Amino acid sequence: MAVVKANAYGHGLDLVTAALRDADGFAVARLDEAIAVRQLGTRRRVLVLEGPAAPAETAVARQYSLDLAVHCEEQLEWLAPAVAGLNIWLKLDSGMHRLGFMPEEVPAALRRLQSLEPASITLMTHLASADLPDDPMTEKQLAVFTACAGEIDEISVANSAGLLAWPGARGGWVRPGIMLYGISPFAERNGCDLGLQPAMHFRSRLLATRRVAAGETVGYCGTWTAQHDTCIGTAAVGYGDGYPGNLPGGTPVLVDGRRCELAGRVSMDLITIDLGPGAAESAGAEVTLWGAALPVEEIARRAGRLAYELVCGVSQRVPRIPV
Ligand SMILES: *Cc1c(COP(=O)(O)O)cnc(C)c1O
Repeated sequence: MAVVKANAYGHGLDLVTAALRDADGFAVARLDEAIAVRQLGTRRRVLVLEGPAAPAETAVARQYSLDLAVHCEEQLEWLAPAVAGLNIWLKLDSGMHRLGFMPEEVPAALRRLQSLEPASITLMTHLASADLPDDPMTEKQLAVFTACAGEIDEISVANSAGLLAWPGARGGWVRPGIMLYGISPFAERNGCDLGLQPAMHFRSRLLATRRVAAGETVGYCGTWTAQHDTCIGTAAVGYGDGYPGNLPGGTPVLVDGRRCELAGRVSMDLITIDLGPGAAESAGAEVTLWGAALPVEEIARRAGRLAYELVCGVSQRVPRIPV
C-alpha cells in the first residue's frame, strides 16, 4: 500500500499515483485526500489512515469505496449505519500511544465491528521507533501486535523503516511512504546508501550574478561577509517555495552541477550563492537545491529538520514537472 498523504510527500499526488498505478492500494491521512486519489481514477484500495473525523464521513467513504481505519469507540459508532461492505482497518495502539485501541480493548472492538459486517477487517498498528535499530520499542510493539492478531485474517504493521530494518514487521500489507520517494527513513543514512533513488529534484535558475568585493556583506541583516573578492549568484527560490529559511551560509547548492555554497540569509523568493572569484556561470544557470547529486537528507541535517519535512514543505507555487 503506497502512502501518498500530504500531496504524496510534496511530490504531487497526480504524478505519484500515476507512477505507482500498480500498487495494491494507496493510503492517505484524511478523507479529502482519499477522495482526491479516487478522483484521479484508481480502482485500487484507498485507505484513510486516520479514519472518519465525523459521523457523516462514513457515508462519504462508502460513496467513494474507500477503506477506513477505526481507532476509537466514537468511530466505531460512526461506522455503524454505513459500514456493511467496506474494508475496515482496526487500529491497535501497540505502544506509540497516539491512536488506536489498547490491546485489552481489541477483542470487544473486534466483536462489535464483526457484528456490523464489513467486507473485511485488517488489524493494523504503527511503529514508533522502527528507524532506531537499537531501541527495544519495536520488538515490544511486534510482540503486542502478534498477541492481538490471533483470529484476524489480514494484518499491517510496517512503514518504510519497519520494512527496511525489521523482518518481523513485513507480514501482510506493508505501508511504505518516504522510501517510495527515494528518501531514507533513518536519520544518519541517505537513500542512496539503501539503494534508493530520489524522485524529487528541486531546481531553480540564476536570475543575476554580480561581483562583490572583500568585506562587503550579502543579504538581509548582513549576516555573511565576503572574505575575498568573489562572484555572487542570485537564484529564484526561497522559503516561500519551501526551501528552509533557517539554512545557514555554507549550505551546499549546485550551480550547473558545480557544488557552491549559500551566502547570507534565505529570503522569501531569493537566495544568494557564493560562486567563487572565477565563476563562469551567468543568469539562466540551473540551480539544484536538492536531488540526485545533492541528497535532501544532507540539506535536512543542515537545517536541523527531517527530510520528510523538507519534501512535504515544498510549497504550492513550485510547479511539479515530471522528468
Ligand atoms: C505516514 C504513515 C506511514 C508511512 O510512513 P513512512 O515512514 O513514510 O514510510 C505508514 N503508516 C502510517 C499509519 C502512517 O501515518
